[in-house]
Amino acid sequence: MDIKSVIRTIPDYPKKGILFRDITTLWQDARGFRHVVDQLVWPYAGVRIDKVAGIEARGFVLGGAIAHQLSVGFVPVRKKGKLPGAVHSEEYDLEYGTDTVEVHQDAIKEGENVLLVDDLIATGGTAAAAINLIRHAGGTVIGAAFVIDLPDIGGAKRIAAMGVNVRTLCEFEGD
Ligand code: AMP
Repeated sequence: MDIKSVIRTIPDYPKKGILFRDITTLWQDARGFRHVVDQLVWPYAGVRIDKVAGIEARGFVLGGAIAHQLSVGFVPVRKKGKLPGAVHSEEYDLEYGTDTVEVHQDAIKEGENVLLVDDLIATGGTAAAAINLIRHAGGTVIGAAFVIDLPDIGGAKRIAAMGVNVRTLCEFEGD
């Protein structure tokens, strides 16, 4: 199926000049949602995955569905201050300023294989920080799976350069 046809683009959100790729329209489409979960999961058939880690917030929806399909546990990667227990934190650069992502210290055990999931990769800054967190916790990032790649921004290459296998399902060029 044509995944891009069920992804809505909203211009100038959250600020002027950004083309926001809105996957809520994909989730509303029963076949579309099922299709992207299947497409993100099948390359890992036969690969040992112990946990799925999803990046707040759209990575929770996709990651939860993927974890269920793989019959493994789910780990939320959250923005600073949202997790109640003891956390590992990783700060990363934004265009202006910095942001921080966190995971619970007991969420990933030494030697576990983790599949990282989010809706979209742009600069790769968020995913890179999440990979550092998972590695810090003792996990191995076995892959990073996204529905959308913005290839002109180069995030997928950046994550591949960290030694992580990247899977994306569609591309929007020019931004
Ligand atoms: P980055 O760290 O630059 O790779 O940004 C990725 C994160 O920001 C993901 O969690 C995306 O959901 C969100 N994001 C960045 N750019 C866009 C965009 N054009 N449309 C929708 N979400 C975006």
